[in-house]
Amino acid sequence: MQSSPAAVSPGIEAFIRELPKVELHVHLEGSMQPATLLDLAAKHRVTSVPDSLEGVRDWYEFRDFPHFIEVYLTSLETLCDEEDFARLTADVAARLAAQNVRYAELHVSLYAHLMRGIPAGVVFEGIEHARREAEREHGIRMRWVPDFPGDYGVETGEQTLDAVLKDGPASVIGFGVGSVEVSRAPFADLFARARAAGLHSLPHAGENGGPERIREALDLLGAERIGHGIDCMRDPALVDRLRETGVPLDVCPTSNLCTGAIERIERHPLPRMLRAGLTVSLNSDDPPMFGTDLLNEYRVAHRLGLGAAELTDLARNGVVASYLDGSVERALLAEIDEVLERWSGQ
Ligand SMILES: [Zn+2]
Repeated sequence: MQSSPAAVSPGIEAFIRELPKVELHVHLEGSMQPATLLDLAAKHRVTSVPDSLEGVRDWYEFRDFPHFIEVYLTSLETLCDEEDFARLTADVAARLAAQNVRYAELHVSLYAHLMRGIPAGVVFEGIEHARREAEREHGIRMRWVPDFPGDYGVETGEQTLDAVLKDGPASVIGFGVGSVEVSRAPFADLFARARAAGLHSLPHAGENGGPERIREALDLLGAERIGHGIDCMRDPALVDRLRETGVPLDVCPTSNLCTGAIERIERHPLPRMLRAGLTVSLNSDDPPMFGTDLLNEYRVAHRLGLGAAELTDLARNGVVASYLDGSVERALLAEIDEVLERWSGQ
């Protein structure tokens, strides 16, 4: 299912644009624009992806979550050399900066590239080059969270972590697991090794796999933040635990609709999560694939009933849940508060 862009009043639209934002849950490769996909497919003569913009739009109509993963992995076949990774990253950075996103932690589907025979060094060289350029050009800071598909087994996680520890730059701040949600239990030792190496534990959990996946992520992977985590709302004791420990959740409403995790956007638990006292941030996941971006997620949140003050809470939560340096974090929070003050004084 594709979403349609949400419309809001001009006042709220201006407020959302003015609000300084961070993105904590966005996949680098899932941010590839259709035009980039077509160009790269033509460059490398990849025939497994559509060859027109219309075709790409149809291709992004996902039947269910496994179908989304299948399309996602196929789209990666267009990324082959350092230049491709740099181009993708530069494009993603410019689009984030244009939405007044100041900082982003991007998941990188590193294992998907390794399994196609692309060395980690090629991926990291390309994305790092563009990351540094983007920081100079747009002032946006970006950090990396390499991950692997959990349903491919623990060995794939081991290979991914080995590659990160061997070739990963200092801008790699975390390690993650995603794709079709399987038990997190087999990954306990792997995540212990990642944490011992100084990486933050940032797994997907409870996107559609139930509250138990979230408990496993907390108990077995030492999760410092939960990717999605919307299924916690099915378990009041888990909600209490998340509120008391303050473990943040990266919520991506439109993604949940497009992958079938929820049936109707009106029923998205985001407002209930926020009002239950959870540290919830707002994110876009795989924006072009879901016909969204972070600005649109704020519009969607507003249409779910959240006013300017609550939208500000979402923006603040993102900053607090991020791995930004303390002084930058404080300055950004002050800027966010100023935007709300101006709005409230109007
Ligand atoms: Zn994700």
